[in-house]
Formats: sequence, structure tokens, C-alpha cells
Amino acid sequence: MLELRQVHKTFVTPQGPLKVLEDVSLRLAAGQSLALMGESGSGKSTLLHLAAGLDLPDQGVITLGGQNVESLPEPTRAKLRREQLGLVFQQFHLVPSLTVIDNLRLQARLAHRDDADWADHLIERLGLSGMEKRYPEQLSGGQQQRLAIGRALAPRPPLLLADEPTGNLDETTAAEVLELLLSLVRETQCALLIVTHSPQVAAPLDRCLCLSHGRLLDAAP
Ligand code: ADP
Ligand code: MG
Repeated sequence: MLELRQVHKTFVTPQGPLKVLEDVSLRLAAGQSLALMGESGSGKSTLLHLAAGLDLPDQGVITLGGQNVESLPEPTRAKLRREQLGLVFQQFHLVPSLTVIDNLRLQARLAHRDDADWADHLIERLGLSGMEKRYPEQLSGGQQQRLAIGRALAPRPPLLLADEPTGNLDETTAAEVLELLLSLVRETQCALLIVTHSPQVAAPLDRCLCLSHGRLLDAAP
């Protein structure tokens, strides 16, 4: 589903070059789940951006759904992202001018996978029944992030990438939102790469890796 092979990434900063990822390799098979841990600034988000084709590596190869990401022109990469990937970030990333149901269905439409029955089912699973016509600002933080998860999964992508998806929520809400995310991942059988600080989140996943000084280490969750 996703493979990074000997990936290197350095950012140019006013203080000089900053080596963020060094010789990073990982594979995620269809339906598998992987937690990525590591200190703040260790390069987790950079790795996720590269995996999503939102940024390109300096060296190395990234394949998504069997396609070499760097070799594609950006419009094709964007299409691959829409069809193969769900993305969830710490910030909720909803469209403020669209209602709950339209936020959900827009993403599916963009991937040409709009399915009204699946959207209705998702709304119910997200605990947002009866709120279809609300706007994001009329939802609580937890509800907004549940909607963002639904939006990512609306096109039924084979891979979900989540970057600290509960980082902006209080502890109780975070636990509920994570449980929902993992339960929807199981239901849709999509592969999952999740950046998290929580050993409790990592524990039930197939594997856990830790980024340290730009390199990947096996980590006990
Ligand atoms: P994490 O998600 O693990 O906290 P990041 O991947 O966001 O870490 O960042 C890793 C390092 O790279 C940090 O030192 C950060 O400041 C730096 N960095 C991230 N993105 C850029 C960028 N676009 N330009 C320059 N430096 C960056
Ligand atoms: Mg980060």
C-alpha cells in the first residue's frame, strides 16, 4: 500500500541545512496499522507529508498504491491522493462554508466515489445524526474532528494517514475520537499510519516505530 525506501529529507533554513529524515524505510501493507512515535521535532509530520505526496524527498523512493509518487506530475499526484488517501490532521480542516453532510460528501465526490447510503451510515457512526445541516462552527471540537475523520473516510480510501488527530482535544474527547477512528478503520479495512504520542493508541496496532534523530527505530508501544 505504502512504501518508503531509503528516504532522505533536508530543509534549508536561515541557520543552514536541517537534516530531518535520514535513510528512512518502511512498508505498510493493505489493511495494516502502524503507529509512528517520536519527540516533537523528530520529523513525524515531515514523514507523513512525504507519504502523502504533499512534499517530495531529496533522495529515496516513495510508492503509494504501487505508484512511484515522485515520478508523477502534481495533478496526477493530487488525483492519487484523492483516491488512495484519507488525511486527518491535528487541526480539523473542514470547509467552514459547507454543512456537515456537504463536507462529508464533497470529499467523496472529488474522488468520484459519492455514495449516499455510505454517507448516511457514516453520519450515524460519527454520532452526527440530526446535525447534517449544521455548519462546522456549530459543532464542538470533538464533533468537528469526528466529521474530519468521516470526511477522510468518505471516499473509502485504502489508506488513512493521521497526524496527531486528537492533539487539539481534551483527554476524554480524545479517547472517544480515537476509539471511533480505530473502529472505522477496522470497519473499512483501510491501512492506517498514525502519528501519536499515546502508547495506549499504539498498543492495539500491528506495529509501532519511533523516529529519533531522523532515523526510524523499532519501538515497543
Ligand atoms: P514532528 O512532527 O515530529 O514534531 P516535523 O516533521 O514537523 O516534526 O519537523 C521536523 C523538523 O523539521 C523540525 O525541526 C521543524 O522545525 C523542521 N521543519 C519542518 N518543516 C519545515 C520546513 N518546511 N522548512 C524548514 N524546516 C522545517
Ligand atoms: Mg508534527
